[in-house]
Amino acid sequence: LGEAVADIGLIGLAVMGQNLVLNMADHGFSVAVYNRTVSKVDDFIKNEARDRKTIHGAHSIAEFCVLLKKPRKVMLLVRAGPAVDSFIEQLLPFLDPGDVIVDGGNSFYQDSTRRMKYCAEHGLWFVGCGVSGGEEGARHGPSLMPGGAEQAWPLLRPILQAVAAKTDGEPCCDWVGAGGAGHFVKMVHNGIEYGDMQLISEVYDMLRQGLGLRVDECSEVFAAWNRTELDSYLIEITANILKFKDEETGKPLVSLILDKAEQKGTGRWTVESSLEQGVPVTLIAEAVFARMLSSRKAERVQASKVLPGPPTQPPLSAADRSSMIEKLRLALYASKIVSYAQGYMLMREAAIAENWDLNYGGIALMWRGGCIIRSRFLGKIREAFQDDPKLENLLLYRFFRDALEAAQSSWREVVIFAVSRGITCPAVSTALAFYDGYRAATLPANLLQAQRDYFGAHTYERIDKPEGQYFHTNWTGSG
Ligand code: NAP
Repeated sequence: LGEAVADIGLIGLAVMGQNLVLNMADHGFSVAVYNRTVSKVDDFIKNEARDRKTIHGAHSIAEFCVLLKKPRKVMLLVRAGPAVDSFIEQLLPFLDPGDVIVDGGNSFYQDSTRRMKYCAEHGLWFVGCGVSGGEEGARHGPSLMPGGAEQAWPLLRPILQAVAAKTDGEPCCDWVGAGGAGHFVKMVHNGIEYGDMQLISEVYDMLRQGLGLRVDECSEVFAAWNRTELDSYLIEITANILKFKDEETGKPLVSLILDKAEQKGTGRWTVESSLEQGVPVTLIAEAVFARMLSSRKAERVQASKVLPGPPTQPPLSAADRSSMIEKLRLALYASKIVSYAQGYMLMREAAIAENWDLNYGGIALMWRGGCIIRSRFLGKIREAFQDDPKLENLLLYRFFRDALEAAQSSWREVVIFAVSRGITCPAVSTALAFYDGYRAATLPANLLQAQRDYFGAHTYERIDKPEGQYFHTNWTGSG
């Protein structure tokens, strides 16, 4: 069957798995590989991994496990869901206590908590590791977010930190916490990714519809913004996408793409989890809903013929147009600050509920490079938690508070601009609504409480009486 030659084994030779194996081999690790459809093992060894003496193909789980040095380390990069449980079951007879299983797929964090407990019953250390950065990241340095059985961390650390992306010499990979913490943090990352993408798309729409810019002019705007605080992977690729021409027609390719957004579910999980934890993660929720609304294309086309919008507004002068472009940049930046603040609120609440000791600055560093939401901005979030590890909310950190103060009048103008022209901007406007709600010492929830007490005798507290004392009023004087 062979001898124990591999530092780590990887199961799942689809796009992510193949690239991560090559990345591990580049860093001097020997890797055993296996895949459910075994022919893909031979294809990989013959093609992508040819001439690589340190990549070893296995044709069965038994052979795969024999190839691994002890304690064995197995990483799964297979489709999230039953495939992960199936491989854990198949591995169990061939692993020994103290061996490690890492799930690098986009698994739901509660599944990882369950799998960690299950593996522990068999003496195995299970780690749920968020992997971000797509194909390119897997090949040249992903962001890695491992959590689960901490006993596995010293065994995995040299490999995972070597293959991870680096920013300022530091790896974008650190221990996140127990149970499903790694996959939870990856889920929030994906939710934030939905938010960033939606914000960029809304601002693009305002540049196009509101200011009448051509697609190539929008590309230049995003390219210029990428040299400011907005410097990030998603802004960079947006500039590239917008200048890309379709070969067949010569038109910007983006203008030929059907406006129906799809989703795989991690954004929805973030929103579901925010509802469970009672955290108002409004921007990501709007981003998920916006994709759902976009997918109702036929209905929208129908409605566009029936439902009127506001009267057409005269175009802006050239000077007003360029000043509005800067206002859009500030609105995007301010909305992004709110979105990250909400994501961090969710992580904080979940950490309390799950008893995780999350390192918030470390998470910003893990996201700083390698992953889809990588940006200069995350360096500032890291600084915020380095300055004040107990920081309750990012919005209260001096740097972000000042940035919001500087942006807010532009932000308000942008929302008015879009609303008055009938351009939908759910993420930008919900961010502003959250900002105003969060900074409001009083909200009209007193009236809500009165209504609840009126129709359901749900009781209320009073501002002029001690907290925890509840009152009920007979509002109608009847009965
Ligand atoms: P994928 O299309 O999600 O999964 C394909 C792999 O899963 C193949 O190896 C396939 O084996 C295996 N598989 C599927 N169903 C199976 C089952 N029922 N039993 C056993 N094996 C099964 O591949 P991917 O895009 O490379 O992603 C791998 C994981 O990384 C996923 O969890 C994904 O969500 C996550 N991820 C992906 C990206 C990305 O950019 N693609 C980024 C971050 C994380 P066969 O070859 O036999 O079909």
